Amino acid sequence: MGAPLNIVIVGGGTAGWMTAAGLSLACPPQLATITLIESDDIGTIGVGEASIPSIAHFNSLLRIDEREFMAKTRATFKLGIEFVGWGGEGQSYMHPFGSFGTNFDLAAFHHYWLRLKQMGEGGDILDYNLSAVLSRQGRFAPPSPDKNSPLSSVVYAYHFDAGLYARYLRSYAEARGARRLEGMITQVGQNSETGYIEGVTLKDGRVIAGDFFIDCSGFRGLLIEGALKAGFEDWSHLLPCDRAVAVPSENPAQLTPYTRATARKAGWQWRIPLQHRTGNGLVYSSSHMSDDEAAQTLLSSLEGKALADPRPIRFLTGRRKSAWVKNCAAVGLSAGFLEPLESTSIHLIQKGVSKLIQCLPRQATAGGAFAPHLMDHFNRETRHEYEDVRDFLMLHYKANARDGAFWRYCREQDISDRLKARMDLFRESGRIFTGETELFRDPSWLSVMLGQGIFPQDYDPLADRMTIDDIRQNLAHISRTYLRSAAQAPRHEDFLQQHFGKPNIATEIV
Ligand code: FAD
Repeated sequence: MGAPLNIVIVGGGTAGWMTAAGLSLACPPQLATITLIESDDIGTIGVGEASIPSIAHFNSLLRIDEREFMAKTRATFKLGIEFVGWGGEGQSYMHPFGSFGTNFDLAAFHHYWLRLKQMGEGGDILDYNLSAVLSRQGRFAPPSPDKNSPLSSVVYAYHFDAGLYARYLRSYAEARGARRLEGMITQVGQNSETGYIEGVTLKDGRVIAGDFFIDCSGFRGLLIEGALKAGFEDWSHLLPCDRAVAVPSENPAQLTPYTRATARKAGWQWRIPLQHRTGNGLVYSSSHMSDDEAAQTLLSSLEGKALADPRPIRFLTGRRKSAWVKNCAAVGLSAGFLEPLESTSIHLIQKGVSKLIQCLPRQATAGGAFAPHLMDHFNRETRHEYEDVRDFLMLHYKANARDGAFWRYCREQDISDRLKARMDLFRESGRIFTGETELFRDPSWLSVMLGQGIFPQDYDPLADRMTIDDIRQNLAHISRTYLRSAAQAPRHEDFLQQHFGKPNIATEIV
């Protein structure tokens, strides 16, 4: 075994501390030393509140206790996202977590439902998804240990404060040997021959040397772009929102166990309930809406009193052409950004951290090269992850049924061949084929395609193997069982109060 790899993480936002936590668990000191540099003067992006179920996997890898995580990050539970007005004013649908119904036979569940729909029966597809049924009733229960209970299959994520999560993970990583340095990096030193990063210089003159650098410096991409010129693939013509304005507000009496995404004139508004406050924000296209109008739209539609002034945020949608260049890998906003419509950024950080752990290089060889195949793998996977999310987000915009210049632009924009083929296939035959490694699988595509108004002309002929009476009975049984089971779960706010008490807003961080 050679000398330990000297890893330097630049940035102490959610990405930096998730990376430090993951690496500090995976790498004993004889394998790697971990230093994280962050600047209080620069600060973090300060938003990020909704997640998807994979976050529980990350926390369990770190052996983080769920109750402690929820208490520290003021988390609530999330069963999906309600989309309001995307299919036109007055319409709403849900993208719930988990699957629909059960697989009776050879065809996927929704084909039996489509067969009933052709006869004007079958109700709403959401009647057959437990998360959606719980959400409608405002209820939540963790998965029941009784495997015979439908509640054993509850799939959930969290709403939480990503800033508090970073703070929590900081103590986790420091307890496992990660070193934190406070200071602003003013210079990046590179080897004059190889271009490899050798060290970074702080404002006070300290030089921090390293073997491998992880750029978690946020949108600025201090190392990956500033020093290594990785290049940026701009996707703003595909996803035209480029700004957001965010404001916290007081909680209403009832805390929905889901995120709400309400379509607005030139973008959409999020509403995310935490234990002690509600996070709100409007994501919009600056070509179609002014900053003042965005702030006004947001403030005039809050459900509780604003707890701070609205905060503007600018962003550029796209990804670094290479997330790993020479001896530096980017994780978090420095690797790329896709708007938060499906709450995917923290998940992409998590993927970045697990890929880094899988691809951890040894000490650089005398020639300075890290294994190029590790780098290629990391870059290829990262590209697929970002493209998959991009296409899924574009579906929401492409298949909208709203009036106005922004929404017309979104309907008319070009989409990838893969997305077009997927929409056409579903429209023609009700079929969905997603790959094993895709983040959003068949149930997610089903919810959003149906919700956005793409209704199949046909269903899988294999659904004809069951008699129509059996289909009727089976579906009625599922929806009845889900309704009955959901009614046994406590209301979301009652569950939270029972486990975490009533938070005192005056003493909380907003
Ligand atoms: P940052 O938080 O920007 O951290 C950058 C770090 O680098 C800071 O510590 C800073 O001090 C440091 N730094 C920078 N330059 C220097 C320097 N020169 N010297 C020293 N240190 C430096 N994600 C979700 O999963 N769910 C959501 O609901 C969600 N909502 C979002 C809403 C909006 C409007 C936006 C813009 C993003 C949202 N995200 C969401 C994304 C999420 O906020 C980020 O992915 C996450 O916070 C990670 O940010 P980061 O750590 O990469 O960058």
